[in-house]
Amino acid sequence: MRHFFEEVSVVLSSFLSAFLIIALAAAPVYFNPPKIQFKVGVSKIAITPFGPHTDWDGTITASGVWGEPFTDQNNNGRWDKGEPFEDDPGNTAIDADSKDKYDGIYLAGFGDNRLATGKRDDYWARAIVLEYGQTRLAVVSIDVLGYYSKASYYGLEEIQKLIDPRLGITDILITSTHNHEAPDTIGAWGLNTLSDGKYPRYLKFIDRQIAKAITEAARSTEIARMKLGSTDPKLSPSIAGMQTRTHGRPPPVFDEELRVMQFTGARGRTIATLINWNTHPESMEDENTLMTSDFPHAVREMVEKRLGGTAVYISGDIGAVEIIGDSNNKSGDRTRFDGKEFPLIKRGVRPAFTFERTDAIGRDVAKAVFDAISRAEWSAVSGIEIKKAPLRLPMDNQGYMFLLSKGVLDTGRKPAEGQPYLIETWVYAVTLGDAQIITTPGELFPEVFYGVEATRRRDCPEADTQRPIEPGVRERMNKKYKFVLGLCPDEFGYIVPGYDFLAPSFDLSGPRKAKDPCKSKGIPDHYHETNSASSQLAPAWACIAASLLDGKMPEMEACRSVK
Ligand SMILES: [Zn+2]
Repeated sequence: MRHFFEEVSVVLSSFLSAFLIIALAAAPVYFNPPKIQFKVGVSKIAITPFGPHTDWDGTITASGVWGEPFTDQNNNGRWDKGEPFEDDPGNTAIDADSKDKYDGIYLAGFGDNRLATGKRDDYWARAIVLEYGQTRLAVVSIDVLGYYSKASYYGLEEIQKLIDPRLGITDILITSTHNHEAPDTIGAWGLNTLSDGKYPRYLKFIDRQIAKAITEAARSTEIARMKLGSTDPKLSPSIAGMQTRTHGRPPPVFDEELRVMQFTGARGRTIATLINWNTHPESMEDENTLMTSDFPHAVREMVEKRLGGTAVYISGDIGAVEIIGDSNNKSGDRTRFDGKEFPLIKRGVRPAFTFERTDAIGRDVAKAVFDAISRAEWSAVSGIEIKKAPLRLPMDNQGYMFLLSKGVLDTGRKPAEGQPYLIETWVYAVTLGDAQIITTPGELFPEVFYGVEATRRRDCPEADTQRPIEPGVRERMNKKYKFVLGLCPDEFGYIVPGYDFLAPSFDLSGPRKAKDPCKSKGIPDHYHETNSASSQLAPAWACIAASLLDGKMPEMEACRSVK
């Protein structure tokens, strides 16, 4: 039997090679060019600032966390003013303001001075390169609070310099998960309000690893097929009751859809699974000091275990949207995750913020990913269309401008004397197969994505600023699967619809939240506006996104001053 099969295969292969020779001779390349095929490559590189690393040129503290070594005289696990430390000149060489400043891993997103004391799981830069013909689009998700296209010494412009132009990368979309248990990549969470929490050498390290991840993904592209799917809490109860709004800020609107893109290679093997869901990754809250990527860690781990390949988690329109257990806890809230009870204990409204609970939340999100994959459809890719437009507008958040002037934030260029601080970023609309991707440079309120007209709050007419309504963006996306890359390529804070934007006031103690006219009905003060670079972000983004999708600027009042 064995002999027979060998003979058959020899006959077959000689027949095939004879056929190929004839085919090649008869069909010159210019007459029958090779068919362009959709290709995908992926790479994941840990960016955790912990322990020895071949590409780490900075110092390591006694705990193993990277940072300037210090003598912890009072044994509280962090550097306190007055404690001796080794001021690494490498940081000062990158940012002159670092001289005499303690540089280390301050965790961002809650209060100041939360220095990391150890590592629980990794932070990642996970890159997917999508290729069709001459187009090579890199999508990179990083487990940090936010990143920038034009920061003073780090960010996308620096990363581009580290990438070999021969790789032919057309565009790079960097999106941050907005992890609140990650190193300060913005500057606002250092020792105190006026101290830059960024660690210059570490930011340069992140840039290098992102460039490496893109390079590896670009070098490993292979012929691929794409599958698209989505689900929501009705179809996937495992994600029901997971999203809340900060202190219950109205309207109760969420982007409840979880979307997936799965790329498979030869013999159906998974190359990558892109997961797009919409809430703040901050389930470990403000007292944790161990480095972790929060619930996306367990999502990715479970998805990779079951499906193989690399899982890439991307946060979408997460403005005002928190993970359950955060600031808007009610006694009837969901407390059961992955089959286990995590009761509300703190003052009867807050759970214990444990890794066990965070992982259980992640596994429940992963179950929804499997639901979406089980219903997913194959989608042929016959091109990758990339449309982009610049978004430029003056900043009007006085707190941001003050911190920029003090060098605490480095998230833009300092303007010439007498000129305004500018927000300069991009909006992308990408189409491939039945998928469309829109990017948003901050924490987009879901109302702005779904259309303010349909989703606006109606509880308090007195609160309406009378600013014109922004155009809906989702309704203009004409492909079946509508993805949102949040905080991409920048994080300019909350993108709050104009009719509901009540600006904070500022004094020496910092921003003071505006009171809602319906405060007496229990409506919270307007927190998000204190963390929004401009009151004009929502109309500027929505009008530009709509014009990219429609091919022309909407004729709406909100879009009149948007160029
Ligand atoms: Zn946020």
